[in-house]
Amino acid sequence: MDFKKTKYGRFMNNRVPSDKRYQPTEYEHAANCATHAVWIIPSILGSSFLYFLSDDHWETIMAWIYGFGLSGLFTTSTVFHTVSWKKSHLRTVEQRVHMCDRIAIYFFIAASYAPWLNLRELGPWAWHMRWMVWIMACVGTLYIFLFHERYKIIEFIFYTAMAAVPALVILSMHDRDGLFELAIGGAFYSLGTVFFKSDGLIPFAHAIWHLFVAMGAGTHYYAIWRYLYTPGSGQVKTSR
Ligand SMILES: [Zn+2]
Repeated sequence: MDFKKTKYGRFMNNRVPSDKRYQPTEYEHAANCATHAVWIIPSILGSSFLYFLSDDHWETIMAWIYGFGLSGLFTTSTVFHTVSWKKSHLRTVEQRVHMCDRIAIYFFIAASYAPWLNLRELGPWAWHMRWMVWIMACVGTLYIFLFHERYKIIEFIFYTAMAAVPALVILSMHDRDGLFELAIGGAFYSLGTVFFKSDGLIPFAHAIWHLFVAMGAGTHYYAIWRYLYTPGSGQVKTSR
């Protein structure tokens, strides 16, 4: 691999073929760690806040699940980027942590949908998505164990499908409050993928992707807090 510096010098290395992993510069490594590390504590505090706002056991369970997904995403991502920064002699560890990072994304997507799927009234068939998101997360995890990094395009399709399919079901909610924020959050994630695919083309592309993830997650957190947990938000409880 040729890591000759581009005209951006220490801010970006050359692009690599799609079967190779881009090698960030020192500055990019630092930005990759920082842009997710700063969200670990707020995500724990934010989900604890939801826990304290819960007024039935389903809200409590969802606060735990969502909280684990949210803080787990930022934590595994930070650990992975830190290990990959200081790797050289830690090749296998880096590989394992990278797998955890990818798996955390599947569970994060499932956890982000869980409060909506479980705390809102859904259409007659739509409620099956409550358990299907977790099956999808498990299938994604299985894929990581079997083919990690081998077919990047399949992985990309998996993530996109997992993000988009439950969204169709969410549209069947009887109470449609929060759909606008959910769409805005989804737009942040979608726009972010442009940067996710731009390593070596745009300096700090991966760190910018991280910021889009944080904005998407922040918007979705706001919607969950406002429409599912805030007293008097007028939500209709599901019949469970
Ligand atoms: Zn990352």
